[in-house]
Amino acid sequence: MSAGAVPVQVRGACPHDCPDTCSLLTTVENGVATRVQGNPDHPQTGGVLCNKVSRYTERTYHSERLLQPLRRVGPKGAGKFEAVSWEAALSDIAARLKAIAARNPEAIVPYSYAGTMGQVQGESMAGRFFNRLGASLLDRTICSSAGGEGLTQTLGAKVGMRVEFFAEARLIIIWGSNSIGSNLHFWRYAQQAKRDGARLICIDPRKSETAEKCHEHIALLPGTDAALALALMHELISHDWLDHDYIERHTLGWAALRERALQWSPERAAAVCGLPVEQIRSLARDYGQCFVNRQPAAIRLNYGMQRVRGGGNAVRAVACLPALTGAWRHRAGGVLLSSSGQFPVDRAALQRPELLAGRQPRTINMITIGDDLLRESSPSFGPKVEALIVYNSNPVTVAPESGKVVQGFAREDLFTVVLEHFQTDTADYADYVLPATTQLEHWDVHSAYGHTDVLLNRPAIAPLGHAKPNTQIFRELATRMGFTESCFSDDDETLCRAAFGDKVDFSELLDQGFAALKLPEAPFAGGRFPTPSGRCEFFSERLAALGLDGLPDHLPNHEAAGSSAQFPLAMISPPARNFLNSSFVNVKSLRDLEVEPRLEIHARDAAARGISSGSIVTVFNQRGEYRVKAQVSNRARPGVVNGMGIWWRKFGLDGSNVNQLTSQHLTDMGRGPVFYDCLVEVQAEPQTG
Ligand code: SF4
Repeated sequence: MSAGAVPVQVRGACPHDCPDTCSLLTTVENGVATRVQGNPDHPQTGGVLCNKVSRYTERTYHSERLLQPLRRVGPKGAGKFEAVSWEAALSDIAARLKAIAARNPEAIVPYSYAGTMGQVQGESMAGRFFNRLGASLLDRTICSSAGGEGLTQTLGAKVGMRVEFFAEARLIIIWGSNSIGSNLHFWRYAQQAKRDGARLICIDPRKSETAEKCHEHIALLPGTDAALALALMHELISHDWLDHDYIERHTLGWAALRERALQWSPERAAAVCGLPVEQIRSLARDYGQCFVNRQPAAIRLNYGMQRVRGGGNAVRAVACLPALTGAWRHRAGGVLLSSSGQFPVDRAALQRPELLAGRQPRTINMITIGDDLLRESSPSFGPKVEALIVYNSNPVTVAPESGKVVQGFAREDLFTVVLEHFQTDTADYADYVLPATTQLEHWDVHSAYGHTDVLLNRPAIAPLGHAKPNTQIFRELATRMGFTESCFSDDDETLCRAAFGDKVDFSELLDQGFAALKLPEAPFAGGRFPTPSGRCEFFSERLAALGLDGLPDHLPNHEAAGSSAQFPLAMISPPARNFLNSSFVNVKSLRDLEVEPRLEIHARDAAARGISSGSIVTVFNQRGEYRVKAQVSNRARPGVVNGMGIWWRKFGLDGSNVNQLTSQHLTDMGRGPVFYDCLVEVQAEPQTG
C-alpha cells in the first residue's frame, strides 16, 4: 500500500475485543496514517468510533512502540533487553524450541486470546505452527466460555436477536453490561428506542455510566443473576404471562422448569440478590406486560454476569425468558449475548488440524496458567511447561491470581517469547520480544460477536520499523523449524479468503469493506433453534449426561457475599471506560482520563473503615493484596467494591493490580474464570506525618 501527496482512505476493521467490530476509515497522507474514523457507510458503525479507537494513530505511532526484536539481558521481569536482528532472534528461538520439542513438544505452550479478534492474525498461521509442532493446546476461556456454553446448552449456539432491532423494542433489559463503555453501538440503538418511548432497565451490581442513564437500575449482588431470572419466571407463571403456544411448540422441559421456578419466590430471590422484593416484582411486571400487550421485549446480556461460579447457569436462566413469553416472535424481541455462532468461519482451513497427524496433545486452561507454570512433570499433568509463546495477550496483567502468574513467568528455566506492540507487564518477563504490526499495517478478516457483518481489514500503511505481522513471524519460525508443508507459504490475503471460503462474497469485502450475513430478521419466531431437539432447551439432556443439573439453577459464588467474616466485601473488577481489557492503558491521553487505579466503595462501607475519598487503601484477601486509591461513590452498592481494571501492574501503586486478588477457580460450565466471584477486605492506610 502506498500513498501519494493526495490523502487516501483505506477501509479496515477494529480488531479489539468488543462486540461492535467497527468498520474503520484510515486517512493516509504520504504513507502516514493521519486519522482513523468510523465508516459512515457501515450501518452498524454509523461513522462513529469509541473514544479509544478514535485515537488509534496515537497508539500506532506511540513513541514506545516496539520496532525491533529484543533479547533479554537482565534478570527475568526486569524489562532489560538488547536489540537483535530478526535472523538472530528467530534462529535462536527455533533452536530452543527444537531442543524442547525433541524431548516433548507438549512442554511448549501457546498463550493467546483476543488482543486482535482477526481470524488471520489470531489463530491461522499460529494454529498451523503449533499443530505441526504438536505443542500443548490452549483452552481459550478467559472471557466468555461459561456464558457461551450456557447459551449453547439453551439456544443451541452463540446466536440471538439482531442488534439493530433493539431500536424497535419497547422494553430493553441491559443485563451485566456497561454498554456505554463496552458496547457503544448497541447503546445507540437503545437510545433510539428510549427516544421512541421504550423503557430501559439495567441490571448490574455497579451503577455504571449506562445504569445511570436507564430508567431503572437493579443493583443485585454479584453472582445472583440466576436467582433473579428464576424469580422472574416465578412471577410470569403466577400471573400467567406466558405464551403457552410458543412454549408448547418450541421448548423442551417446560414442566420441569416450571417446578424449579416455582421454588424461587420473589422473597427468596430478594434475600439472595440483596434487592427489594418489590423491585423484582416490578421487573417481572414490565417483562410480562410486554407479552400481554404484544410488545417486543429485548434483553442485551453481556459477559460481565457470567464471571462467577454459576455463570453458565445464570446465562441459561436468562436465555430461557424470551421463550416463556414468546418474545422471539418479534424481530425486536429475544436475547442477545453473542452473535459469533452465526458466522460460517472455516477454522479447519485456517488452522489445519490435520497437521497434528493423529497426535492429541494435552490442553492447558489459560485461566490456571498461574498454577500450571509452577507444576512439575507428572502423569496427570504431563511435562513441566518449558516454553511459552505469547501473542495477542498480556497474561501477567489479565490472568487471575497474578501473584502466582508472576512467580511462574519469573522462572529462570522457562523460555518465553512474546509477540507485542508494547513493553507490557508480560513482555517484561520475555526472553525474546518480537515486534508485531498493528491493525493499520496488516491484512485481516473479522467476524463479530455483537452484529452479523463480516469485515475486511486492508493494511493502510507499511509496517513500522522492523515490525512483522503475527502470521509472518510464525511463517518464518516454521521455516527455521524445518516445517516444509506448503500451507506455511500461504500469504495473508489467501488466509483472508480461506476464513469464510465461498460462504462470504470476497469481492464484496474488497469493494465495500464489509458484507452482511444473510439471516432472518426474527431468527426464532418459528422455533427451529440449533439445539439437538430444535427447541429452546429449558432442560438440557447434554448437561444431564455430563452429570450436571439439566435445568438452570442459582449456584452460589465460590466466595459468596456475606459468607466470610474475614473478607466481608464482594469485589468485582469491571473494565475502566477508557481501556479495553489491558489494551490502551499505555496511551497517555486515555490513561489521563482514567487518572489512576481506583477502588469504588460505598459511603457506608467507607465510613465503617475510616476511609475517605482519595485516600490510599490496601485491598486484600488470602491470595494477596494491592494498594489503590479509594473513591467513595454511589457507583458501588453497599457490600460490594469495584476495583476498576485492567491497569498494567507497572502503573499500579505497588507494581500490582486487581488480579492479585482474583482466584483461579472455574465456572460451572465452560471452564471459565470467576473474576467477579471474589471476597476481600479493605483497610485504610495509616496516615503519616
Ligand atoms: S473498540 Fe468497539 S466501539 Fe471502539 S472502535 Fe473498536 S469495535 Fe468500535
